[in-house]
Amino acid sequence: MNVQSLTVSHFRNLTDLTLEPSDGVNVIYGENAQGKTNLIESIWMFTGLRSFRGSREKELLQFGEDRATLSMHFFNDVRKQNAQITISDKKQVTLGGVKLSSGTEMTGEFLATVFSPGHLDLIQGGPSERRKFLNQALCQLKPNYAKRLSDFNRILQQRNMLLKDLRFHSELLDMLDIWDDNFARFCVYLARERARYFSQLDPHLRNFYTGISGGREEIGLSYETDLFSKETDLLGSDPQELKEEVLFSLRNHRAEDQMAGFSTIGPHRDDMAVTLNGISAKAFGSQGQQRSCALSLKMAEAAVVRDITGKQPIVLLDDVMSELDSRRQDYILNHIEGWQVFLTCCEPSTILFSQDLKNGRLFEIKGGSLCSST
Ligand code: ATP
Ligand code: MG
Repeated sequence: MNVQSLTVSHFRNLTDLTLEPSDGVNVIYGENAQGKTNLIESIWMFTGLRSFRGSREKELLQFGEDRATLSMHFFNDVRKQNAQITISDKKQVTLGGVKLSSGTEMTGEFLATVFSPGHLDLIQGGPSERRKFLNQALCQLKPNYAKRLSDFNRILQQRNMLLKDLRFHSELLDMLDIWDDNFARFCVYLARERARYFSQLDPHLRNFYTGISGGREEIGLSYETDLFSKETDLLGSDPQELKEEVLFSLRNHRAEDQMAGFSTIGPHRDDMAVTLNGISAKAFGSQGQQRSCALSLKMAEAAVVRDITGKQPIVLLDDVMSELDSRRQDYILNHIEGWQVFLTCCEPSTILFSQDLKNGRLFEIKGGSLCSST
């Protein structure tokens, strides 16, 4: 998939801008507050009419304007396509001239992956950040996962309510057995899907990380769950046996659950551990290493989408270069081959200029307009 041209008007500080990118790496540079992130955000809007900054419509309109338009010509790996987005009181999108009923119809038509500084939470943040990453990736790939996850969340809430009631009504204990049977079934499904996703992610993650670290560090990824023992082969075992193991773990934690008044183990507590040369990237990684890990995770996520859908997402990298040494920057600029990348950075340092961009273009942005490009 690649963007062939983009025109943006009255979107945030981008009054009237046209971008004709290369198929390789497009570096958008400029001082702070010139519109770099806004430009990345405008491309991301085509993935489903939502901002990755979680902004409301009104915030996307240029101050004093009541309408913004975004127009893009792109190649969707099968044919050329064009899409227009209009943002006013509401958002509307047309694809190939046909009005779509909602932004979700764009999902799958235009695919992109975005890395912004907030994604460092994938490494530095708590388990919920990593579960969000896992769930979002799986929901995007598998509608069935999305449905089962929301069913699981409902069952979890009901189980938690029952655990609270149990404090005063011990006669409800039999009901917990009935609930747990169902709860365990969902636990097995979610755990197996997550384990499968890890196995798909792993080779790509290793590949990107080896590239960015020049082979000096080895990344590792493992699925952390209290439901199964470390030795359990989630993908190779019989689901019925896995369910028995979950029921065993739930019984072991029953007293704790009753004391707490909520479910202390389950897929809602899962985590993924990222290691560098065998030790925790969160606890011991340097800033550059943590950034490299988060970026590699996002790149691996995009590669899995490519493997499964046959469509290659656009890569949007907002402010990824800071804290990376020149060798790592060079890897991003010149060795992420086969992907169309949009990358923002502040005034390119001498480092960036000294490494000529082998397959790509440089764009300078000032006050929301592109003022030079090469
Ligand atoms: P940095 O290097 O600091 O990340 P940037 O180039 O990425 O800067 P942007 O986040 O793209 O900067 O924002 C550029 C400017 O756009 C900001 O000064 C912001 O105030 C302005 N801006 C944001 N929303 C709107 C809007 N709705 N209308 C007009 N200007 C806006
Ligand atoms: Mg920015």
